Amino acid sequence: MNSTRPSGKANIITTRNKNMERSDYNGNLRLKDAGRKVTLVGWVSNRRRLGAIEFIDLRDTSGIVQLYVGNPDAIPDVRNEYVVQVKGEVRAKEVPNPNLPTGEIEVVVEELILVNKAENPPFIIADKTDALEETRLAYRYLDLRRPIMQKRLRLRAQTVKIFHDFLDENGFTEVETPILNLATPEGARDYIVPSRLHHGRFYALPQSPQLFKQLLMIGGMERYYQVARCFRDEDLRADRQPEFTQVDIECSFLDQDQILTLMEQALAKLFKETINYDVPLPLRRMKYWDAMDKYGSDKPDTRFDLFLIDLKQLFANCSFPGFQGNGYLKGLVIPGKGKETSRKKLDELSMEAKKFGIKTLYSLKFNEGALNGSFTKFLDEESQKGIISSLGLKEDDLLLFAYSEDRRQIDFGLGALRSLFAKEMGLIEPGTYDLLWVVDFPMFDPVEGQPGLYSAEHHPFTRPRDEDLPLLDSDPGEVLAYAYDIIINGYECGGGTLRIYDRDIQWKIFNLLGLSDEDVARKFGWFIDAFKYGAPPHGGIAFGLDRLCMILSGTDNIRDVEAFPKNLQAVDPMSKAPGEVSEDALEEVGISITDHE
Ligand code: ASP
Repeated sequence: MNSTRPSGKANIITTRNKNMERSDYNGNLRLKDAGRKVTLVGWVSNRRRLGAIEFIDLRDTSGIVQLYVGNPDAIPDVRNEYVVQVKGEVRAKEVPNPNLPTGEIEVVVEELILVNKAENPPFIIADKTDALEETRLAYRYLDLRRPIMQKRLRLRAQTVKIFHDFLDENGFTEVETPILNLATPEGARDYIVPSRLHHGRFYALPQSPQLFKQLLMIGGMERYYQVARCFRDEDLRADRQPEFTQVDIECSFLDQDQILTLMEQALAKLFKETINYDVPLPLRRMKYWDAMDKYGSDKPDTRFDLFLIDLKQLFANCSFPGFQGNGYLKGLVIPGKGKETSRKKLDELSMEAKKFGIKTLYSLKFNEGALNGSFTKFLDEESQKGIISSLGLKEDDLLLFAYSEDRRQIDFGLGALRSLFAKEMGLIEPGTYDLLWVVDFPMFDPVEGQPGLYSAEHHPFTRPRDEDLPLLDSDPGEVLAYAYDIIINGYECGGGTLRIYDRDIQWKIFNLLGLSDEDVARKFGWFIDAFKYGAPPHGGIAFGLDRLCMILSGTDNIRDVEAFPKNLQAVDPMSKAPGEVSEDALEEVGISITDHE
């Protein structure tokens, strides 16, 4: 963008209507208004000259109305995005425009006042745009003039209001928690803020209000919520922003089932009131390992039937040396994709699976009643027959399969291919919604390449299932937790857990996560000590507001539902944030930069 200083000459266009008189919003006018005198304001969205007359589309926040100008030479010369005020009379159109809600009428202009001029915008301000997203973000204020963007922001506001109303009706109190504090361990990198008064010490922006909401429970609040801004310095994706909003909830004395039941009612209300969709309750509850086994994901998109298959038995007599261990051998049958899946395509699929740690992706094709492919040499006739009949292979089916010692690796790898084919083959019907809970998550995730070391699958405050407590000593990897995620169309739209309320167990979990006693005392002593004073059983959830709005808006880009998002490099293309700060400002907080970008 090229910012130049305005010339000294004042460019006052009109001062006639300082108070911007207006009788109606443009988008609200209908046939019943015919004959009324109206005063409208807005932006010129389009101008068409037809011989001696002219049509102008006038846009405001409510929509577009067509203006009819019978004497174009008598009004100021206006162009797209000029701000104008018009006075005129509403009349029925001879030929209605079915594409506009106001299409049955037009306003015959009697007076048009130019309020402000506009430069030619860098892209056309209309719902359909081929402007690059980077350009849209650099001129976000113009992008936000597009009706579809305003619709999305309104839906977002409505979503927040529905949560406020629902939670209020159910006895929850909104409480704000600090933005400047110590780190919350949600598993991401922190955004840190230096302290002017304490050089060498830093606040961390909250990854979530987790610790505070638990302390509110110990503080006796019983039902808390907050529409909370959270910050995580992670690599960005289409569905992830560095700052995002959670509808964060915590309650005491409710068990997992009670929490899920209450929360799914909130979601049903949300879907009904925003997009008039009836969510069938109760929602399905799928166990983590069932989701992984069958869908290859802990956020399964169950809108299409393509399932991971355990091939261990069917390949029992396979002579391939790589399959002889105790690992997992699983596959995916892709119907009708045999012929068109070239060597190159298979290489691409292998690359995708590799991202999840799968070393080699194997394939067989089924044509004219037989398996084809170089792998057939490792399968005797009996095995081949078994595979064909058990999998119910049909002409031109493609069987993809892989082997791994790591259960999560094989599931995630094949799960990624499952999603890829679903998109490619159009297996998902647009406008359908699939909501379910995934429950019974493992408590821990093994740290790759470091046997015996774990990270928390949700976060360290998650309560292990009562029956699994003994496993904490013998086999932590097998411990399941009271943890649940809400999955909508394959997106994780929220997650929560019951919390540990016993100080000793909390301490032990920290130890299992690799923190020494000194670390626990130093980092979490302030928090864990609160558990000495009668912590109630409690649990909660946080909904990802941005993702929910993204789904309700029918977009797959989270930036579409945020007014001023960052791009994938975590930069705001409009202000160019993050920016440099002066040497003085750095000195004040005791920082010197040695490695400039
Ligand atoms: N703090 C958790 C998160 O941000 C949610 C929860 O456990 O309530 O994912």
